[in-house]
Amino acid sequence: MDSRHAILFEPVRIGPKTLPNRFYQVPHASGFGSGKPRTQAAFRAIKAEGGWGGVCVEYAPVSPDSDDLPAVSAEIWDDRDARALGLTAEAIHAHGSLAGLELYHGGASCPNGNSRAVRLAPSQITSRVQWGGLAKEMDTADITRVQRDWVQAARRARDVGFDIVYVYGAHGYLMTQFLSSHANRRTDGYGGSLANRGRFWLETLAAVRDAIGGDCAIATRIAMHGDSGVPGAEGLPGIHVDDMLTLVAMGDDLVDLWDVTVGSWPEDSGTSRYYPEGHERPWAHRVREATAKPVVAVGRYTSPDLMAEVIRSRAVDLIGSARQAIADPFLPRKIAAGRLGEIRECTGSNVCILREETFSHIGCVQNATAGEEYRRGWHPESFPATADPGRPVLIVGAGPAGMECAVVLGKRGFTSVHLVEAEREIGGRLRWARGLPTLGDWGRIIDWRAVQLASLPGVQVITGRRLTAADVLDYGADLVVIATGSAWRGDGVQPGYPGLMPGADPGLPHVLTPEQVCAGKRPPGPRVVVYDTDGYYVAPGVAEMLAAGEFEVTVVTVFDVLSPVSDQTLEGDMLRAHLHRAGVTVRHGTTITGIDAASVTGHDRYGQPWCGGCDGVVLVTQQESLDTLYHELAGDEAALTAAGISGLYRIGDAVAPRMISEAIFDGHRLAREIDQVDPGRPAPYRREPADLA
Ligand code: ADP
Repeated sequence: MDSRHAILFEPVRIGPKTLPNRFYQVPHASGFGSGKPRTQAAFRAIKAEGGWGGVCVEYAPVSPDSDDLPAVSAEIWDDRDARALGLTAEAIHAHGSLAGLELYHGGASCPNGNSRAVRLAPSQITSRVQWGGLAKEMDTADITRVQRDWVQAARRARDVGFDIVYVYGAHGYLMTQFLSSHANRRTDGYGGSLANRGRFWLETLAAVRDAIGGDCAIATRIAMHGDSGVPGAEGLPGIHVDDMLTLVAMGDDLVDLWDVTVGSWPEDSGTSRYYPEGHERPWAHRVREATAKPVVAVGRYTSPDLMAEVIRSRAVDLIGSARQAIADPFLPRKIAAGRLGEIRECTGSNVCILREETFSHIGCVQNATAGEEYRRGWHPESFPATADPGRPVLIVGAGPAGMECAVVLGKRGFTSVHLVEAEREIGGRLRWARGLPTLGDWGRIIDWRAVQLASLPGVQVITGRRLTAADVLDYGADLVVIATGSAWRGDGVQPGYPGLMPGADPGLPHVLTPEQVCAGKRPPGPRVVVYDTDGYYVAPGVAEMLAAGEFEVTVVTVFDVLSPVSDQTLEGDMLRAHLHRAGVTVRHGTTITGIDAASVTGHDRYGQPWCGGCDGVVLVTQQESLDTLYHELAGDEAALTAAGISGLYRIGDAVAPRMISEAIFDGHRLAREIDQVDPGRPAPYRREPADLA
């Protein structure tokens, strides 16, 4: 280990417990809750195995009036829930780490979609994120009952083995609603002055401490005020950083670990597009002014040097991580072993959050095994050795899917894998996407795989060679994997309009595809329309690139907001403000159905005709698979047999254009299963809920 990093491996005492080192996986949602206990246990245990000294489960509602359906949380309402979560504590302990549970009440933010309970809040408020009615102003009996529920949940958590128990006070939930002078309009002892607004939180901390403080470390998560830079963005109205410092001093005797976040969730889990590593430091690190107790704060840290510097600054005691721990559960062990080049750096794209926000199984662009530990038995660092290492494998196309497939085959011990790429560099669509403004860190997807490929003796990367079907048949491969990807259509085909769009021809000077823009093609005049029916990063990225090049850019989008998908990665507000500042104008709810050299025509969402003057249009409408090579090969079985090819497979966008994380998953899965009976079909996986008896 590099001696500069030794400080990261010092043990830290928190109340009655001792963390084995300073790596701490803070509570974060997984979508597994208490309903998929084995999936949850395996997902967290892998982090303990990888060296994270503290590993926490996600938010755990203490009572049915904090039910978050359709989102999945770790409900701990009864002993059955507790037993399910206990599997996770046990699995974490097996690797010598401490297990934490984040007890939570969402107050006015709870949908209560399952329990149908009335929402509770300090005053009759509503939440910006919930429709369908206001909360009940909690009376004294409600306050006492929620505190009792909290204590009962804490006892259950302790009884099933958790070492660290939270009183979750951040992110706008019930505790924060009490603290906020905007949300809390009470005139009794729980409202008004700062001390009164803090009473509910402090009383709850004291009650939990009385009940379990001798056995467990008591943690609380608080939010220091931050600034997303977006007026009106959901944050912490009514609580200033100085107020928080006063509250920290007031609660310091009751707390063993301060878990400090900033502002709103989009800021706290800021993406690499808009926030650098450690962007929270100016806010989060101020907590040291009010406490000498252990402090943990996140920062999307990927650099061990920066982590060590942060600890040496003494502002915090632990390196908190959610996304980096998903991207590389083995980061601590890799630092300990000095294997720094092997760290899978989080890209900060928030695909993990997007998947959670869309109620999908968790996913990660860097770590395809995330969430697959139990159900598919995948391990991020261990790859079952193939029984037939010498089998020659040809992978055509080195985009995300092809690169991942080659890496996993190489790690499985295949000794004759050729990854052949038509262009001079590997990377596929990321070759150009990483060059779009703000998307540079997405390049880590290529960089990590490039380092791996270079270190795998069984894998040869050949660039600048575009293979035809005849080349593939002649290659001498036993297994062939087609990973030729996709391209943006230039013909105007779009969702709901499968026909060709009149005038859409990317051979014309005034019609462009995103790839053409990134390759340097520019419209013949200054006024450009970027037409978006995709809804994610490509249209805003191309628009910003052109605006920086002095073009007058209008994004015409079929959606009600620009880039609705970015709301699921928590970037929406920032992205829209950013483009606004870059001078990009947006026309919403509009469909383009025709293009000529001076204008685009179409209709608004009510069917009213619309025409806009422009000198060029970039079509971000729909992608199409580049699957000709696959079909040529698949259509000639006799030729495949004669060539000695026993298996022909297709992965990634060449199957169907999807998000990068899904193309990577596809390549990873095939490589793990390529020597099973029918590798073209994913092997069945274990499903939960399981019978726990
Ligand atoms: P995916 O995300 O599925 O990996 P991409 O479109 O990002 O797909 O990448 C596909 C890669 O395949 C691109 O780098 C492209 O240049 C390469 N490619 C496409 N056709 C061929 C071919 N015939 N021979 C070699 N490489 C190819």
